[in-house]
Amino acid sequence: MVQEVFDKLRTLQEILSAKYSLEKEIQEIPKALATKTEVVARLKKSYIEKNEQYEATKQRIKNLRERMLEAEQNREKLESQMDLIKTQREYEALDKEIRDAADKELQFRRDLQKEEKILEEMLHALEREESLIKEQEEELRQEQEKIRSEIEKRQEQLKILEGQEKEIIPGLDPEMLFKFERIIRSKSGLGIVALKRGVCSGCHMILPMQFVNEVRSGKSILFCPYCSRILFYEEEGEEPYLVETVGEPIFDIDDIEAEEEEQEEEEEELEEEFEEEEVEDEEEEEELEEEFEEEEVEEEEEIEETEEDV
Ligand SMILES: [Zn+2]
Repeated sequence: MVQEVFDKLRTLQEILSAKYSLEKEIQEIPKALATKTEVVARLKKSYIEKNEQYEATKQRIKNLRERMLEAEQNREKLESQMDLIKTQREYEALDKEIRDAADKELQFRRDLQKEEKILEEMLHALEREESLIKEQEEELRQEQEKIRSEIEKRQEQLKILEGQEKEIIPGLDPEMLFKFERIIRSKSGLGIVALKRGVCSGCHMILPMQFVNEVRSGKSILFCPYCSRILFYEEEGEEPYLVETVGEPIFDIDDIEAEEEEQEEEEEELEEEFEEEEVEDEEEEEELEEEFEEEEVEEEEEIEETEEDV
């Protein structure tokens, strides 16, 4: 009876871990586009800004041209007055005026040339950016299409897996299923592991003798008190695990420390995974922390329950 459940769980484990990784992929795939979308948006923004600068330069050129024309006309007018000059003094004064007007005209001409050069460079930059934007938009469109088909493909696979899941589930205890699903989701796809020589092969913790015997007897489904995975007993060719003292298993202090570290790491992973799944925005984080606390309490309760069972 228990053996049958174990077999079902092993099959279900394969289905579920495939299902969860597909679900995760479906969520993750569109994220690849976020960067590209952002790049396109940034390019467009920069294009608009540069275009504004381009228009401003055009306006400056227009003004410079007008002022240059005025200076030119002024110089010509002064030059035409030369014929009317009678004295040396008048000549010198007018000549100076003409030279000043010519200098002014020249300065405008130089400024104009400089601005026109800038305008030309701006135009080239704008053309380059425009074609870059078009290119990026096209790439984005293609990627969106690819992503859509990738997601569709996965959704089809998902449907098949869900069909298989529905076939296996009948007859399995819903509460056990709930725990099993949660553990597979959080512990990289493993929800049922072997208990070998008194050690849970999921978290490598040494389990109490009585508990080991309980699992060995195969009368009921038992969860590892440390990592919450379902345990099945597996015989080892080597010397079986024996403990003289009742209750407390024998191990040295280094082992305990190593195990504890590992356990902590696993818990951190678990929390990170929950975080990834559930945090959609920062506001939800607080809620989440409360949830973690509840989860922890729940897990502790589970451990206590299991210990009591032993
Ligand atoms: Zn374990």
